[in-house]
Amino acid sequence: MRTQYCGALNASFIDQEVTLCGWVDRRRDHGGVIFIDLRDRDGIVQVVFDPDAADHFTTADKVRSEYVLQVKGRVRARSEATVNPNMATGEVEVYGLEVTILNNAETPPFPLHDNSVGEDVRLRYRYVDLRRQEMQNRLRFRSKVTTAIRNYLDGEGFLDIETPILTRATPEGARDYLVPSRTHEGKFFALPQSPQLFKQLLMVSGFDRYYQIAKCFRDEDLRADRQPEFTQIDIETSFMSDEQIMSVTEGMIRELFQSLKGVDLGEFPRMPFAEAMEKYGSDKPDLRIPLELVEIKDLLKDIDFKVFAGPANDPKCRVTAMKVPGGVNISRKQIDDYTRFVSIYGAKGLAWIKVNDLAAGIEGLQSPIIKFLGDEVTMNIMQRLGAADGDIIFFGADKSKVVSEALGALRCKLGADLELYTCEWAPLWVVDFPMFEENDDGSLTALHHPFTSPNCSPEELEANPSAALSVAYDMVLNGTELGGGSVRIHSSAMQQAVFRVLGISAEEQREKFGFLLDALQYGAPPHGGLAFGLDRLIMLMTGASSIRDVIAFPKTQTAACVMTDAPGAVDNDQLRELSIRVKKKEGNS
Ligand code: ASP
Repeated sequence: MRTQYCGALNASFIDQEVTLCGWVDRRRDHGGVIFIDLRDRDGIVQVVFDPDAADHFTTADKVRSEYVLQVKGRVRARSEATVNPNMATGEVEVYGLEVTILNNAETPPFPLHDNSVGEDVRLRYRYVDLRRQEMQNRLRFRSKVTTAIRNYLDGEGFLDIETPILTRATPEGARDYLVPSRTHEGKFFALPQSPQLFKQLLMVSGFDRYYQIAKCFRDEDLRADRQPEFTQIDIETSFMSDEQIMSVTEGMIRELFQSLKGVDLGEFPRMPFAEAMEKYGSDKPDLRIPLELVEIKDLLKDIDFKVFAGPANDPKCRVTAMKVPGGVNISRKQIDDYTRFVSIYGAKGLAWIKVNDLAAGIEGLQSPIIKFLGDEVTMNIMQRLGAADGDIIFFGADKSKVVSEALGALRCKLGADLELYTCEWAPLWVVDFPMFEENDDGSLTALHHPFTSPNCSPEELEANPSAALSVAYDMVLNGTELGGGSVRIHSSAMQQAVFRVLGISAEEQREKFGFLLDALQYGAPPHGGLAFGLDRLIMLMTGASSIRDVIAFPKTQTAACVMTDAPGAVDNDQLRELSIRVKKKEGNS
């Protein structure tokens, strides 16, 4: 139906006759001459119809925004005055000879050129929203990334193997999406939270190097960079050490940035989990921001001021300070805003000291808390932090988790608000994770997942589980976790030890993971792997602010699709077949 894409036209086509197909981006009537900007996936070109084109002029006069046209015309140079340097095809235009309306269109639900349209409307009419250049570019870029990933992994000998969507629970720490079985009354499939167990079984089967661009499903409360279904670049290998796995996957990300963005990420530094938490309050530190948390617990143990002395003497607490150069200019109102911000993370307040003139000693400092700290302790803190004129220092004193989360988040917020970034891209590996984290009731949860190998023997693990580290690694870029993985447990005895520590009874182990425990006894090779979040990777690479903007048909923040109106009701016959009855919540009629 066409000879060229609209966006492909340039001066080399002058005097050629072309046939184009596309959508009316804009139509203008300039006193008897009609200009149509015709758009297809490659770009936009201006088509001109004058009354000499007879019938076709009449047709062109009828078209409206988003009509679908086929246009035949001759490419000609624009006059110097009308060249449009902002348009890729701006040197030329098409003199229209024939036009056929392939389809009409209702007035679009929102103007495609309006960037301020609410996301709800964009998602309801996603098929229109996706016509916008920005969205076309993002999805095109996404396709380039997946192609480059496939090429890279294929070159490294990885096999692309699919794994089931209807399966049993694969624990990654979220709630499962369940699918009722018609043929097995009262039983349910779970959608995979990841292909974790299947990729391990593929290693037991000897495939050696597996990858899959895989859909994963997690029913959890959604945050900005979460979706109920999302895509992973899932990888597993046999007979490779953690170092080798990190090297091959780091190579992939480096290659993607080099070939698709012209960015050299260099070699990724490594940071132990404990250091990341201590200095940045986060296991995914944004190293573009030159701010660090400094421990000052020891300086505050003996003061009378309970707010600090209490946590300073409690092993479950931390007391830290963060120096922000240039922060003296932060106003009282902004400090109040930051105080509200840290309260989201459970912080009860946000103490601060401004350093106006350090040479003047205590007199040169400004803060409501100095009178409680005392001069000596205050000056010791200044020294510990290497404070200088112009700094503001923020404090956190509370349960370790609260302080880390609150000051860690404040660090990122200040980095953005004060534009403190020292570089564009800051990748790193976080390593040496603890094997378990403690729940409020004292029970333990696997920090990564229960198939991750601890770096100790089963006996040592069971004797002191809280001290065990795992052979796990997370790749972090600009404060976002791009991916994570681990060397896996390949012995049934170790796997059972981990399950025991997690409080999973022998019976439950058999019921839920019997197939894995069996497989580990039939010659499981040492293996390990990792998974990257593809959506987040594309979000970072395209500079989009939400993963929804790099997914063709995403769900809303409340895990619904406003376009198809899913999830939807089903009729009683369908439910009967599944032996399910929906009980209305009290209060609903
Ligand atoms: N399955 C893990 C996840 O989804 C990744 C891995 O360990 O390979 O986080």
